[in-house]
Amino acid sequence: MIPKLEGQTECKNCGEEIKWIYVIPNKLSDRIYDVHTAEPDKATAKAISIKENDEPEVLIARCMQCDYTNTFDYTK
Ligand SMILES: [Zn+2]
Repeated sequence: MIPKLEGQTECKNCGEEIKWIYVIPNKLSDRIYDVHTAEPDKATAKAISIKENDEPEVLIARCMQCDYTNTFDYTK
């Protein structure tokens, strides 16, 4: 099973709700993880800052409505 996080954030550009999915990278299966994150109605979030416990601290996700790249803090 692939560890993943999901959540939502609001686009800072157009206000659209962005549902995102973030897969905690597994160094052994980096190639597989792109395939498994392909969910058409969800943006694939990427971490630009990661905590020591491998949880993301700051994420980026692209808005599917306007293509703006949003940066936001990860909150549980
Ligand atoms: Zn947008």
